[in-house]
Amino acid sequence: MKVGVLKETTPGERRVALVPEMLARLRGAGLDVLVQSGAGDGAWFADSAYAEAGASIVSRSELLADADIVVGIGRPEEPVIAALRPGQALAGMLNPLVDPAFAAALAAKGVTAISLDGLPRTLPRAQGMDALTSQANVAGYKAALVGAAAFGRFFPLLITAAGTARPAKVLVLGTGVAGLQAIGTAKRLGAVVSAYDVRPQTKTEVESLGAAFIELTSVGTAAGEGGYARALTEEERQAQQAELTGHIARHDVIITTAQVPGRRPPLLVTEDAIKAMAAGSVIVDMGAGPLGGNVAGSVPDTETVTENGVTVIGAGGLAASVPTAASNAFARNISALLLHMVNDGELAIDLSDEIQAGVVITHDGAVVQAATAALLAKNPTGGTAP
Ligand code: NAD
Repeated sequence: MKVGVLKETTPGERRVALVPEMLARLRGAGLDVLVQSGAGDGAWFADSAYAEAGASIVSRSELLADADIVVGIGRPEEPVIAALRPGQALAGMLNPLVDPAFAAALAAKGVTAISLDGLPRTLPRAQGMDALTSQANVAGYKAALVGAAAFGRFFPLLITAAGTARPAKVLVLGTGVAGLQAIGTAKRLGAVVSAYDVRPQTKTEVESLGAAFIELTSVGTAAGEGGYARALTEEERQAQQAELTGHIARHDVIITTAQVPGRRPPLLVTEDAIKAMAAGSVIVDMGAGPLGGNVAGSVPDTETVTENGVTVIGAGGLAASVPTAASNAFARNISALLLHMVNDGELAIDLSDEIQAGVVITHDGAVVQAATAALLAKNPTGGTAP
């Protein structure tokens, strides 16, 4: 079976789905690897390194014609989808819960879609395949750096002959994988860090990193299934936003990371909250994307300064800006998944396997992943996340 590594085309995307180091293991399992010329350039993996590791360097059209399984980071551009043929497989972070109609279209083409974001993450044997976690770790680290770089003062307490600089006060909203990494990084830079999550069970993790956990009195716990948060009711949402406003105003740098699976990111920082912040404050919105973000008015991949002097950075795709680390980690995840799914050099789809039942979205002309199929049953035309 041939695995084809696409060159990413999304603007700003510098990651690559497989790195040369992974090729020996894949080839050992009977897989041939085709790499689109230049696929690793953005992350500093040259064609020659892939070739030395045993890959064939090909053009995009050769790859699409010859590969049995096409791998990429995210959802490929339309011409790639159009070129896929029945029986071919496509693997990456395809986000079917946000756009189930896309899954339906792949099923109609007879393509087997494998999406790493469907992985049952709490399953210990799946942890090496968990690209959501590996990429969130990279992004959370970078979010703290982006916040520090945009802030006009120091993060640490500095006592110098020229005077004393007090440490920055950083608030992290949402303390999943990305939030915890942002807390750790901001702490290592010397900031005084506080954090909040609607799942109070994250308090111990936050405190173990040396940050203070903020508890809101107006909203209770909103833990959902599988360790994720549930969406808040309209009433809860308003109460949360109002109570957070006071905390936000007391901080210099806010990093927001809140997500609810298959939904638009919740709005945590309202216009009123931004207005209450001091000039020179910085907000890094890791939720910012095409469906909106955690921060009112944040624009994906854009830095804006509000009338009252608050810098709002739409930073939904930060993993792509640490491309070598992110690609190394992603490549380990996708290789582990492929090795799990391959038998005698061929893709062996087995939906009775818990891992495959999560990641295999379409197969044999049907949407087979339960969560995506349920969304389509509710709304056959797909639609976007609520
Ligand atoms: P995520 O990206 O889905 O969300 C980020 C954080 O935002 C979460 O902590 C969530 O509670 C929080 N959030 C959502 N809505 C919010 C709101 N309105 N206000 C404040 N916070 C809000 O989360 P994630 O990083 O993917 O982690 C999800 C869960 O998966 C966690 O419980 C994590 O511990 C767990 N996890 C487990 C494993 C494992 O067992 N191997 C690996 C990775 C993650």
